Amino acid sequence: MTCKWINACPMRDLESKGAVNDAWRIDYCESVGIWKNCIRYQMEERFLPHSDDMLPDGSFVDFSRRT
Ligand code: SF4
Repeated sequence: MTCKWINACPMRDLESKGAVNDAWRIDYCESVGIWKNCIRYQMEERFLPHSDDMLPDGSFVDFSRRT
């Protein structure tokens, strides 16, 4: 089962802008259960605010370097 936020997650917008590559989606969002390790997912579950440019590992998009 993929992450329940897969279609609503701001990561999709980052992908469409070319700011991140497909590896994050494949490794986390579409995984069977690795999405549980996603910092975005964990913060969402705890109703903790988090930036739209935060990546699943808790790092942030570097818009000067395409990831
Ligand atoms: S980035 Fe995290 S919260 Fe967003 S869809 Fe992927 S696994 Fe879920």
